[in-house]
Amino acid sequence: MEKEALFGKTLKELQGVAKELVFPGFTAKQIADWLYKKKVSTIDEMLNISIKNREILNEKYRVGLSAYDKVQESVDGTKKYLFRTGNNLFLEAAYIPSENRKTLCVSSQVGCKMGCLFCMTGKQGFQKNLTAGEIVNQMVSIEEKDELTNLVYMGMGEPMDNIEQVLKSLEIITSDWGFAWSPRRINVSTIGVGPAMRRFIEESECHLAISMHSPYNQQRKELMPIENVYPIEQIIAILKEYDFGRQRRISFEYIMFEGVNDSVEHARELVRLVSGLKSRVNLIKFHPIPDTPLRGSSHQKMEEFQNVLEKKGVTATIRKSRGEDIYAACGLLSTKSKIQKNEEKDF
Ligand code: SF4
Repeated sequence: MEKEALFGKTLKELQGVAKELVFPGFTAKQIADWLYKKKVSTIDEMLNISIKNREILNEKYRVGLSAYDKVQESVDGTKKYLFRTGNNLFLEAAYIPSENRKTLCVSSQVGCKMGCLFCMTGKQGFQKNLTAGEIVNQMVSIEEKDELTNLVYMGMGEPMDNIEQVLKSLEIITSDWGFAWSPRRINVSTIGVGPAMRRFIEESECHLAISMHSPYNQQRKELMPIENVYPIEQIIAILKEYDFGRQRRISFEYIMFEGVNDSVEHARELVRLVSGLKSRVNLIKFHPIPDTPLRGSSHQKMEEFQNVLEKKGVTATIRKSRGEDIYAACGLLSTKSKIQKNEEKDF
């Protein structure tokens, strides 16, 4: 039987492990320290736990970190890491360095069931929810693990569709007994899954990014089937119920498709939708993917759109595209081909 991983357990869960093995209560905190502060990769390195207790721990548990399988580097310094997760499934994480930030974009699922028209992960379909351990593993198993300044949950999957494990991973990353990161260094994205988004707002302090992509219901339905269940007005109405304070940031992501959602009318409607909500808008260049008629808007069009928003008092930025040549840019992460290759090998 495979040993259970300790990495990815909360302090409360580690207290359960200590209790089960009849260890002194303080052992849980010691294990958390070794896992999340001293970042050991074996139980034998947990030196302040007695040899006998380490042996007992070793019988049933392992640390459970997984090294990456492959890394690709873009001409702009962006790196895409590939990790294997049981049953020949793969996930990707993108490391995005800039002058003053070193950001890691992590995945929360292998594939995704949300079916957004413009997204490679969506085209892959859904394979699995990642565990909290598999999510946090991405930030400690890359070469730049000690340089990271920011974390974004914008990789493969819809974080709100795996809310339990996502919240658990955030608890490990932000707690004093864990990595003790400020929640202000973390941004979690969603296409707007109402109930789970409420939980996220209430149970975490991290920033929230909502993918809007169109302010019109009918068009948004075509781009993002979630609109049929949670219309964007409903999502914005939920956001307006909360006081996010001065520090917590709400942003809207808006991928710009040529001739589809980049008109002045779209910009005005967007302004109307978000009025009264302290937020900003990030305009994102679309990277064409196979089997879609969608094309990215020109830079000039994006600037015009940005100007309309800014003139109406909505802060809007145009996001630089990163890692396009290695398929690490927004919406391009997919491990479908790897899964197929493995299936071919198996049969
Ligand atoms: Fe899933 Fe996000 Fe892609 Fe939509 S955009 S299919 S929610 S990964």
